[in-house]
Order: sequence, then C-alpha cells, then structure tokens
Amino acid sequence: MPRLWDVGHCIYCGSSADLTDEHIVPQSFGGTWVLPKSSCKSCNVVTSKIEQYVARNMYWLPRVKLGIRTNPKRKKEKPKSWPIDIVENDLTIRKYIEINDMPLVYVVIEPIVAGIIESRPLSDRNPEMKVSVKGDISAIERLMVVESANIQIISDSLWFPLFQMLAKIAHAYTVAVAGSGGIAFFLPELILGAKKFVGHYVGGMIDETPDMKSDEQLRLSLRTIRNEKYLCVTINLMPNTLPIYDVISAKLIDHSPVMSRIKLYNEYLENRG
Ligand SMILES: [Zn+2]
Repeated sequence: MPRLWDVGHCIYCGSSADLTDEHIVPQSFGGTWVLPKSSCKSCNVVTSKIEQYVARNMYWLPRVKLGIRTNPKRKKEKPKSWPIDIVENDLTIRKYIEINDMPLVYVVIEPIVAGIIESRPLSDRNPEMKVSVKGDISAIERLMVVESANIQIISDSLWFPLFQMLAKIAHAYTVAVAGSGGIAFFLPELILGAKKFVGHYVGGMIDETPDMKSDEQLRLSLRTIRNEKYLCVTINLMPNTLPIYDVISAKLIDHSPVMSRIKLYNEYLENRG
C-alpha cells in the first residue's frame, strides 16, 4: 500500500494533536493510497461516518456485486441478503433476497458542473442534480413477475454525504500531490459539515472523459478561471458504474512551489506509461 509523505497536521482542522493516517479514497471504494499523519482523531470520526454512510447505505449492493475490495478487517459485515419491499394494493411486505439472486441496482447522482467553473454566484441553495436508478432494470422487472407485485428497492440516497465524501477525496488528494503551502483550500468546512456553497465546488464532469487509465480513480489538473489558477480533482470512484465528478479543491496563491510539484506529478503520470 503506497504511503505518501507525512503531513504532520490535520488536513481538515489544522490540529497537530493525535494524528492518524488517512486513506485518500476510502478502502471500501478500493483506495490504496495512504497519507500518513494527516487527520486528527475528531475529524477522523466525522470522515469515517460519511464514508460508512456512502459505502454501506448507498453503494453496498454494487460494491458487493462488482467485487470491490472491502477493508479486510470488516469482511464479516458483508451482507448475505438484501431487503426489498413487495407492494401489493395497500400492503407492503419486506422480504430478503439472497445477494446472489438480487439484481444490481443503485442510485446515481449527477450534479451539474461546479458553480465556480461557470462563474455562477455563490449560492446557499442545494445544487441542481439528476437522480436516477441504474443497474439491471430488466432483472428487477423479472423479479416483479416472480413476486407478481411491485417492488421497492430499499436504498438510502442522501446526496450531501456523497458530496462530502467526494470533497474529502479531492482535498486529501490535492494535499498529497500539491502540498499545503501556497494554496487556499476550499473544502475543509464542507467536509466537516457546512452545507453552504457545496454546489460551487463539487460538481459533475467538466470536460469529456479525461484520458484516465482503467485503474486510475483520481486525476489532479490545473484550471484557469478568469485568469486565476485553480486545482481540480477528477474522481472516477467506480468506473463504468458511477458518474465521473470534478471537484474544485483550491486556488493557487503562491504559484512557483505548487507548479513545480505539479510538474513532478505530471512527469510521474507520463512515466507510468
Ligand atoms: Zn482535525
């Protein structure tokens, strides 16, 4: 498991006490990169809760079905069955389907492009997004025929924890690649729970699919918006399953040290072929 440089302070609140290691992409989503000594214990409680919600309540089914690696220590918690509600007339009956017989279905949340990219004014309103259900819809229809009733799939899909998790990944990756000096970060407050302005920084894909390798979940790029330089993290959390997200994580203040680190990063990307 690649360990990057020791940060020496909490990347969310700045504290230098009780530092723990931080996975950039959660292990439950196949992440392997660790940023050592970069999260304090109390921020770790917050980010772990967010990750648990998204991994278990929202995307457990696709993770299990698609065989996405879970934390080896938590293997026991893998579910053997999945709840569905059978709805007939006014009656709802909960039934458990063996995980192998359960069709793959999941909620997909697609926000519009981050507001900062399009120069939209800062807004407290919830970001615009499209919510849809994807997966093996025809298998669900077959299941309805078998049960001769309508079926409701039980799945939580609160958008805010997902956006918080995307912000967390983008922020940690930005620190890992570009360091923490000479940069004004946007995301720590949002990660720790402030719902304000979330659609300004977290959004859907800006350009066409970036040229990312199939095993590549993250890509940092430099973007110029109204003559200022910003850092953008493209997140392909579950390739071919979830949408690609683009998160604007920070603004460059002191260009030269950050640019030289980004140059090293681009050389690293080129050399890995
Ligand atoms: Zn902290």
